[in-house]
Amino acid sequence: MEKRLTVALVAHDAMKHDLAEWVAWNWEKLLSHRLVCTGTTGRIVAETLMERRGKDAAHTRFDITMLKSGPLGGDQQLGAMIANDEIDMLIFFWDPMSAQPHDVDVKALLRLATLYNVPTAINRSTADFMISSTLMANADYKPVIKDYTTYIQRTIK
Ligand code: PGA
Repeated sequence: MEKRLTVALVAHDAMKHDLAEWVAWNWEKLLSHRLVCTGTTGRIVAETLMERRGKDAAHTRFDITMLKSGPLGGDQQLGAMIANDEIDMLIFFWDPMSAQPHDVDVKALLRLATLYNVPTAINRSTADFMISSTLMANADYKPVIKDYTTYIQRTIK
C-alpha cells in the first residue's frame, strides 16, 4: 500500500549541491510525500523538483513546506516538529568540514531525531538506502519510541 510520509530535508551550504543532485535523482519518489525543509534548502529543493518535473507536467503537484533558514531558527522548528511526531524521516546533509554558527541547533536537531527514533540520513549513501527501503511503503511500520514514563514521573527531591 502506498504510504505518504513527511520527509524533512536539510543541507548545509557546502552540501546543498549534493542534496540537489540527490533530489534530482529521486524526484519521482519524493513527489508522493510531504516535504518539510529549512528555508534555503527548501528553495533549492523546490527549484530542483520544478526543473525535473518539467513545465509540461505542472499538474503534478508537490507538497513542500519551508521553515525558517536553519541558522535563523529553522533547525529548531524542525526539532519541535519531531517532538510533536510530525516528521517521519530526516535527510540531513550536514557539513563535516566547517563549523556552523548554529552548531548547537544542529546538535539539538540530531539529538531529537535520535531520541524519537526518526530514520535519519546524514549522508547520501544512507539517504539512498532509506529511499529504496520497502519500509517506505509499509503502512504498518512505525518506529518504536522508548517509553519515558519513568523519567517523566520521576520524583524531584
Ligand atoms: P538553510 O538551513 O536550509 O536555511 O540553509 C540549513 C541549516 O543550516 O540548518
